[in-house]
Amino acid sequence: MSHQSDPYQNALVQLDHVAAVLRPLYAESAGQLKKFETAIKRLKTPDRMLKTQLKIQLDSGKFRKFLAFRAQHNAARGPYKGGIRFHPNVTEAEVKALSTWMTWKCAVTGIPYGGAKGGIVVDPKLLSLTELERLSRAYAAWLAPWIGPWVDVPAPDVNTTGQIMAWMVDEYQKAQRAKLEQGQTAFEVNPLATFTGKPLGLGGSEGREEATGLAGVFTLIKLAEKLSQTDHKKISVAIQGFGNVGYWFAYHSAKAGFKVAAVSDSKGGIYEPKGLDPEQVLAAKKTTGSVGQTGLGKVITNAELLALPVTVLVPAALENVITTETAPLIRAKAVLEMANGPTTPEADEILATRKIEVIPDVLANAGGVTTSYFEWVQNLQGYAWPKTEVISKLKVLMDQSFDQMWQIKTTQKLPGRLATYATAVKRVVDAMLLRGNI
Ligand code: NAD
Repeated sequence: MSHQSDPYQNALVQLDHVAAVLRPLYAESAGQLKKFETAIKRLKTPDRMLKTQLKIQLDSGKFRKFLAFRAQHNAARGPYKGGIRFHPNVTEAEVKALSTWMTWKCAVTGIPYGGAKGGIVVDPKLLSLTELERLSRAYAAWLAPWIGPWVDVPAPDVNTTGQIMAWMVDEYQKAQRAKLEQGQTAFEVNPLATFTGKPLGLGGSEGREEATGLAGVFTLIKLAEKLSQTDHKKISVAIQGFGNVGYWFAYHSAKAGFKVAAVSDSKGGIYEPKGLDPEQVLAAKKTTGSVGQTGLGKVITNAELLALPVTVLVPAALENVITTETAPLIRAKAVLEMANGPTTPEADEILATRKIEVIPDVLANAGGVTTSYFEWVQNLQGYAWPKTEVISKLKVLMDQSFDQMWQIKTTQKLPGRLATYATAVKRVVDAMLLRGNI
């Protein structure tokens, strides 16, 4: 695996860059500096890396094994938190990288969690619904001893849904009940608080489904102000990925008056400089099967989308799409990272040299985990908030995180990513130092 395409190596390179920025803050004594270096070293390996082969019966009666992972990166600031991805390209390196980024993301918005991530190497489109349920349940049963409301709180990610969380929380509760029957304590708190991203009918939160995309648009509005362009219709966006994040980002961008010039999915995309109607694209995609076949704009490839003459480029699919090959071709003024890890460190340097503004993933897409946090709080309180309350609390935290990033970026003359990561890593390191076990 080349350096650029190994997301974990990328996460470690980013951490080294951040450590170089933070080091002077801990240099007042040799002892303090030593503790800082120990904390950084510890942050380079997840606290726990769980992996297994899950064996399930297919509808044909045959058995098949699937490789599954859970990385618990760091819990200095609170329970581990992170999604579960079902994808054929899931690797241990990817899961470790994503768990590291979760630690930073939770710290950026100040929510009291550490980072985790899970995944199964599977193409869920090749499974029947019953096979998908069996695999999801097998994963939750395997993970049950390692998770819980105050231990590790999983959530959906690529190709995992509220329904999958519902099966998983049910399986987790079965494991808890079995413990109860053996005379062990169980259900000290609402077990529904073990998973977030659940359906509304099973302890989910109002607003969670659209939260990541919507919160990304709160960030886009702030970015527009910084680009000195408050007339939203003069700002065009090209969005790669039209799943949960990409669709809701497109929907709320259009609603806020921005011009959605291009969208794509794994099969390709469309470009319409006058602006697309995301609801119409979604409706057409449901009949044609892919965005590229909707006939609502000029057909383009995913590579062409990255190089479009738009104001803001929004990667909202998978990681490693902005590389040394694609970064020089980008014509957007800014990149708003809605996907996790879409830019390699080498490409980041190219964007910085080219003065292309980058709003990093851990800030831009933090709306998902923030609303997951609200869901967890509601479950623990046993009290469901109305959607308006969820959205207004979300906006406060996103705007505050953006302003903090921008202040550090401008006062310390740092690129957006470094400014964001510096804030996040400092909060985690300080929590580790406060615990006094370094
Ligand atoms: P999703 O499965 O709903 O959608 C993924 C989209 O990406 C689909 O439209 C798919 O067709 C497209 N895609 C897949 N491969 C592609 C390729 N090679 N080129 C172009 N498009 C491709 O997933 P999602 O929940 O929207 O997540 C998207 C990204 O956002 C991921 O990086 C995820 O980790 C991140 N993220 C998601 C959330 C959330 O709340 N769902 C929160 C934070 C970050």
